[in-house]
Amino acid sequence: EVYKRPLVYFDNAATTQKPVQVIRAISGYYEKDNCNIHRGVHYLSVKATEAYEEARREVRQFINASNTHEVIFTKGATEAINLVASSFGKKYIGPGDEVIISIAEHHSNFVPWQQVCMERGATLKVVPIDDRGDLVLEELWKMMSDRTKIIAITHVSNVLGTVKPVKEIIRRAHEMNIPVLLDGAQGIAHTVVDVQNLGADFYAFSGHKMYGPMGIGVLYGKEKFLEDLPPYQMGGEMIKDVWIERTDFNELPFKFEAGTPNVEGVMGLLAAIRYIREIGMENIAAYEEELLHYATEKLSAIKDLKIYGTAQHKASLISFNIGHIHPYDAGTIIDKMGIAVRTGHHCAMPLMDFLNVPGTVRASFAFYNTKEEIDKLYEAILKVKEMLS
Ligand code: PLP
Repeated sequence: EVYKRPLVYFDNAATTQKPVQVIRAISGYYEKDNCNIHRGVHYLSVKATEAYEEARREVRQFINASNTHEVIFTKGATEAINLVASSFGKKYIGPGDEVIISIAEHHSNFVPWQQVCMERGATLKVVPIDDRGDLVLEELWKMMSDRTKIIAITHVSNVLGTVKPVKEIIRRAHEMNIPVLLDGAQGIAHTVVDVQNLGADFYAFSGHKMYGPMGIGVLYGKEKFLEDLPPYQMGGEMIKDVWIERTDFNELPFKFEAGTPNVEGVMGLLAAIRYIREIGMENIAAYEEELLHYATEKLSAIKDLKIYGTAQHKASLISFNIGHIHPYDAGTIIDKMGIAVRTGHHCAMPLMDFLNVPGTVRASFAFYNTKEEIDKLYEAILKVKEMLS
């Protein structure tokens, strides 16, 4: 309950709530199995290591990677993208080269590439979107050239909900030998992700947006790139041998997992994957689509309410503004009615500039939300209008 009302939680794109299975997996790990992994021969260390590596195998299955060592545990999508931007940048990007992103990127997939380009004398090319929130693909095709070193785009936009035609983009990019990184922070929670079918060279996501804990995420990378890239961080675990004058690095995936990893997070992520599997991602996606459809119809009927992002392929979130009412004011009143929506720039300031708005109100749905809750949001928006118009 919040403000003596049953909470309506529509901030799932920021983070999802956690099922009891995930919470128990974490507390169970600390109650029974807590130990540092990999370097121990004693019972607990071996047990924790086995559980950790079991989780890696299940992540591999979950995203259908070809090899378990293509799954790198990170602290989230942000770290996964930074890893690639940094290591790929060092290895492959130089003066005169280009990196392509889109205007609809989260800062996590914008700033790392912007900074790498600045550091390495490369140019950042930014694909625009159309009125519905779809990428202007003709622009993307035109931007792709032999100077393009990588394309980094979000699978599903956290602001507009647009599901990008990533398979087609990857196909065209590969024809020109351009690798593609997908920011899957939102995609992983709403669609079946099959990295081999998509052809993605890198896929980054966070556990906490898919019912798992915070502080854990995954970078999937194709073996040929991961083998080739220099390590991102240095320390324990990522080494094979260290001498005073040099170091031999460990094999994959450990080369990219310096230091004591987030074992509790991995246990929680494993529980979240099993939980999603039990419900079925197809079932989750179908129900969320129903919620999206219902909410879109309902909210579109409100006079002066503008929805940002009306792409045909869209995940279950709605960004909107109500007339000239500032999103923070709207969000504050909606909150007082027990409904959690997010307001602001959603970590996508270039996109807000492009849309020419200071921010939006965003209601993002998960499979545990209901149509009755959407009705409550509808009532709350009417209240906002009544109070502030
Ligand atoms: N990319 C997108 C599309 C997101 O929505 C988010 C988080 O909102 C991120 C990246 C960053 O995720 P994290 O903060 O979990 O690393």
